[in-house]
Amino acid sequence: MSERISLTEAARRAPRITARGDSRLLEEGAPPTLADLASALQFALGDGRIWLNDERMVMMQAQVLGELRKEVIKTVGMDTARRLLYHTGWVQGRHYAELVQKRFNQQDLTAALAAGPRIHTMEGFVKVTTKRFEFDIQRGYYHGEFHWHDSTEAQEHLRHFGVADCPTCWMQTGAPGGFTSALLGQPVIFREVECAGMGAERCVVIGRNASAWGPDVPELRDFDKAPARPRGAPWKPPTDPAARPVSPEVPHAIIGRTVGIERARRLLERVAGYSEPVLFLGEPGTGKEFFAHRLHDIGRRPKGPFITVNCEAWSGGQPAMPLVGPDSALARAEGGTLFLNDIFALPQAQQSLLASHLAAEDGPPRVRIMSASSAAPREAMKSGAFRSDLYFRLSLLPIVIPPLRERRDDLPMLIDHFLRLHSRKHSKPLRKISGAALGLLLRYDFPGNARELSNMIERGVIYAEPGGDLEISHLFTGIEEMPEFVEGLHVSGRIVRRTAAGDPLTEGMAFSEIESETYANALRGSGGNVSAAARALGLSRAKLEYRLRKLGIIVAKPIS
Ligand SMILES: [Zn+2]
Repeated sequence: MSERISLTEAARRAPRITARGDSRLLEEGAPPTLADLASALQFALGDGRIWLNDERMVMMQAQVLGELRKEVIKTVGMDTARRLLYHTGWVQGRHYAELVQKRFNQQDLTAALAAGPRIHTMEGFVKVTTKRFEFDIQRGYYHGEFHWHDSTEAQEHLRHFGVADCPTCWMQTGAPGGFTSALLGQPVIFREVECAGMGAERCVVIGRNASAWGPDVPELRDFDKAPARPRGAPWKPPTDPAARPVSPEVPHAIIGRTVGIERARRLLERVAGYSEPVLFLGEPGTGKEFFAHRLHDIGRRPKGPFITVNCEAWSGGQPAMPLVGPDSALARAEGGTLFLNDIFALPQAQQSLLASHLAAEDGPPRVRIMSASSAAPREAMKSGAFRSDLYFRLSLLPIVIPPLRERRDDLPMLIDHFLRLHSRKHSKPLRKISGAALGLLLRYDFPGNARELSNMIERGVIYAEPGGDLEISHLFTGIEEMPEFVEGLHVSGRIVRRTAAGDPLTEGMAFSEIESETYANALRGSGGNVSAAARALGLSRAKLEYRLRKLGIIVAKPIS
């Protein structure tokens, strides 16, 4: 057996080690381990969602996927089907790379690369054994060899088409290509040299830098879709959120892609070219004023003034400026937008003034009136608090903004956005949101909507250690109504419930589960260093290593 050195030791011996690597130098238990990856999986039971970190997953029978594969082959032919599935796998691999960078922020490229086969295995497509890989970014060199056991794709191919005369695991070969290319920033192509679909005992997969495969590399078509860094540029670990540009760059851009928010966005674009009144309806904190600003920006008079009036100000006494008349809010908004916030709080006298002003208007309006409310219009009119004629005038173009709990799939994007925004605003570099904190944010109901999320993250940014992670205690104040449990995957393979703070509930857990949980926590605390974890637990390194192997927390390496 060859000599093994720790990564820290290796880095000291060779300062450029991050640009070169060899799987034989990999620190045992370097994160993310299988236990770490399992902790990134969250089953939001009853919510129709499974999360792998911040991405939504689905469970689907392998046979059903096989059926789809069969139909695709029958419809478009083998060659096109191979290309489509290869591309799908490639995209899947790129998402693996994003998971490793985002959740685990692994600064060591060898350890980051080693996580790929583990994710691939965890997702259940295939059982991967890493035989060996080595790379040298400066030379544009990568070579890896992997064995795949029990590939679902090969099984499905055999079931529908019998023994093949060429490799059949198309989607599976795309995945390591997408993953490795995304991490290295240069194209690495994987091909099967043996495949169970051809009758072999297992699939044997070789990955090489694209140029090593010769002049004809048809798979390269897919590399163009992956972000590439200039050839020869050194690999850099992911940067902290504050350093990344706040995206999108457009001010007041609406973030999200769920059905409800897409609908609101489409309506906004449709009404932008007109001057008629718009009414925004939505719970407090959903961003009604933000939407109004966006509409102003994309509307007919983006350079005109945007004047906000809080209608509640009248009920408390004399407002700063009158609504109608000379030097009024309406006069100041001339050529732009008048935004009437909390419109149903407008006192009767002001309602009459505004109604007669609007009725007297002839020709196209010189001010676009936008109003907003979180109250139900029907109630306001039924109680007589608001004039129905004025309401019908102001609500010609209503836009409803959905609450955050109904657009949960937008949470990852919004969390990312607010993290960058506040990190930059307070010039505070941060690594990321911790896994436990993210898991809780994805389950929380946000009664205060997007404003509450933004406040939480801003608070987190201020409370967290510079360069550290945002933890649950930084985000939540303790008065929020938290979900009681979150369900996640335990390294033993069972779904376990944890308390909202991330501690496992020991009730119903086998002793081995409690034991492996303890070890996994110690490993996390030591940043994957087995010796340090052993010290923290009061065990010898050899003893801990033996237990970790036995429990499957670290996987036995092939004898090299
Ligand atoms: Zn195969």
